[in-house]
Amino acid sequence: MVPGIHRPAVVKVNLGAIKRNLENEMEHLEPNQKMLAVVKANGYGHGAVEVAKVANEVGVAGFCVAILDEALELRRADITKTILVLGVVSPEYVPIAAVNDVSLTVPNLEWLKEAEKYLKDANLRLKIHIGVDSGMGRIGFNEDADFIAANEFLKDNNNFFVEGMFAHFASADSSDETYFKHQCEKFNHMKSLLTVKPKWIHVDNTAASIFHNGIKSDLVRFGIGIYGLNPSSNPDSLDLKSNIDLYPALSFESELTHVKTIHQGDGVGYGSTFVADEDTIIGTVPVGYADGFIRKFQGFKVKVGDTYCPIVGRICMDQFMVKMPKEMPLGTKVVIISDNPSDPNNIKAAADYVDTIHYEVACLLNDRLPRVYYEE
Ligand SMILES: *Cc1c(COP(=O)(O)O)cnc(C)c1O
Repeated sequence: MVPGIHRPAVVKVNLGAIKRNLENEMEHLEPNQKMLAVVKANGYGHGAVEVAKVANEVGVAGFCVAILDEALELRRADITKTILVLGVVSPEYVPIAAVNDVSLTVPNLEWLKEAEKYLKDANLRLKIHIGVDSGMGRIGFNEDADFIAANEFLKDNNNFFVEGMFAHFASADSSDETYFKHQCEKFNHMKSLLTVKPKWIHVDNTAASIFHNGIKSDLVRFGIGIYGLNPSSNPDSLDLKSNIDLYPALSFESELTHVKTIHQGDGVGYGSTFVADEDTIIGTVPVGYADGFIRKFQGFKVKVGDTYCPIVGRICMDQFMVKMPKEMPLGTKVVIISDNPSDPNNIKAAADYVDTIHYEVACLLNDRLPRVYYEE
């Protein structure tokens, strides 16, 4: 998708906020604990390379991404530290990872055996992190026998360097610690079965690091916190209080491209879900669901000039309309999502409005919206 550089619609990213979040977490780490900055999905929509550069300067030990291509993007940007791919990479692509010094997750024993064939053929050595399924139910070893067999397989195996072993929490963002503790126990059990010695054993995501004292973890995989967002934020529960300060970095801005008055009986948008019952001033904003601003936002209030105005009518593919209490000139600034947590259109409020989490709202904003970086 081409970025719309001749349209007034941008995602602004405050790299100063990102830096403060990273520094706050660095100070919060346990002694000897290190950080992997999670920049998957284009840095949760904020821009993977730009965020990784800030994290690099702050002194993180490395990075996590979701897919191999995201790791290669960072390598092309001259990021030389550890990069771990958290998802499953098909064994046929394992040589690409090895050549680019990218670390991969081992999801199970079959993968390890397949990967070895490709590595042997090319005479390569791959850095791996053994995935453990301690209760996320996604990828990784959950059976003792397989895990023990994998350890045997890796012993004195020159095609692999065991850089890590890790698991992922399913509910570290919840105040109910029952399942979290269950996962800690399972992980500790698997850890006790290790016969190879990983360089790093890690479990903490942002939530585990800022809400809990779970298990000792050599690394924190710090994701959503980088972007200044509280991981416990979801529509039906209150936020747990973070024990570090978090500064949201993302705002989403546009401008009015059209303003007019419509009259009684005139509709707005597809299906005329809004019909004026009197003279009504309607402003048009050149943003739509094709930008990742989904139709469910109909009714959400965005800030037009200094006034919060509801989105009326259905959101179109490329434009939406707002109902305004007064005339405002073309080019009036429209803040669709604010980076100020006390504004009513902050990203958590936006996510609540469409019944999801802010992770998803940020990730949905796609490449048609240029990212504009500033430091404040
Ligand atoms: C995405 C992800 C993280 C980061 O999670 P946050 O909640 O954003 O901190 C850490 N570990 C794994 C395995 C992940 O998939």
